[in-house]
Amino acid sequence: MTPPPADAAAGRWPDGARSAVALAFDVDGPTGDAMLSGAIWRKPGYFSLGAYGPYRALPRILDLLDDAGVPATFFTPAWVVETWPDACRAVVDRGHEMAHHGYRHERYWDLTPTQQADVIARSQKIFEDVLGTPAVGFRTPSGDWHPDTPRLLLDAGFTYSSSMRGDDRPYLHEIDGTPTSLVEIPGRWDLDDYASLAYTRNPDYPSGQDRIAGYELTLDNWTREFDGHHAEGLCMTTLFHPKVSGKPGRLLLLERLLAHMRDAGDVWFATCRDVAAWWTGQEAVQHA
Ligand SMILES: [Zn+2]
Repeated sequence: MTPPPADAAAGRWPDGARSAVALAFDVDGPTGDAMLSGAIWRKPGYFSLGAYGPYRALPRILDLLDDAGVPATFFTPAWVVETWPDACRAVVDRGHEMAHHGYRHERYWDLTPTQQADVIARSQKIFEDVLGTPAVGFRTPSGDWHPDTPRLLLDAGFTYSSSMRGDDRPYLHEIDGTPTSLVEIPGRWDLDDYASLAYTRNPDYPSGQDRIAGYELTLDNWTREFDGHHAEGLCMTTLFHPKVSGKPGRLLLLERLLAHMRDAGDVWFATCRDVAAWWTGQEAVQHA
């Protein structure tokens, strides 16, 4: 008999785990384009859609994570941290990671390097004052960044980013063709809850699409994505938003998703910070 092929994915991650899950939420609150333009101050209803996230949905998600025993990373604009300090301190107190997501969800590609550095410095000061420590993780708001952003992140002491899309494993960012110490933990639109569950009427989002995906279909999509990542021994992160997924019925979807992932049995659940630190160690071993 020929032996079965070696399972290259088995035991790839810490503690003999087959795959890694870095569950992540973007706590945008009411920040974003409408706040940057000032329009949100004329739209109290729209403000309340965003405020629901840190005010109401975030505590519900923290309770779910406690029950599941799963850590997570919360990419949070510093404006949200200074506006809801107790809710954000609870994230850290309950064993999770808070990470950078702009001050008011700026579009980094629109900013000069000096403006980007100012947003980072202002936000890190708020993290230190409110949470006791600056962020080491960065997720660019609105999906892209400026060519100079990786260098600015290294200068500011960040260890990782979760902003790009081009892989389903961590990798090291290069600057001018040279690898740096900045780890990328890429995520994808497939695992962004906006793609399935976001819907507002004023302003209309998604534009021209006044419907959401069915809840069972959404859960099926997410669990199949996990199954694929797990089969290949990859690292999966999510782009969930409390204001989208932290509503009562949707929380039950998250609960079932977590149960499905935990049932796999050999998954390493970690914050993005811990994934980045472990990956850095692996790179050091490979290149020693
Ligand atoms: Zn965001």
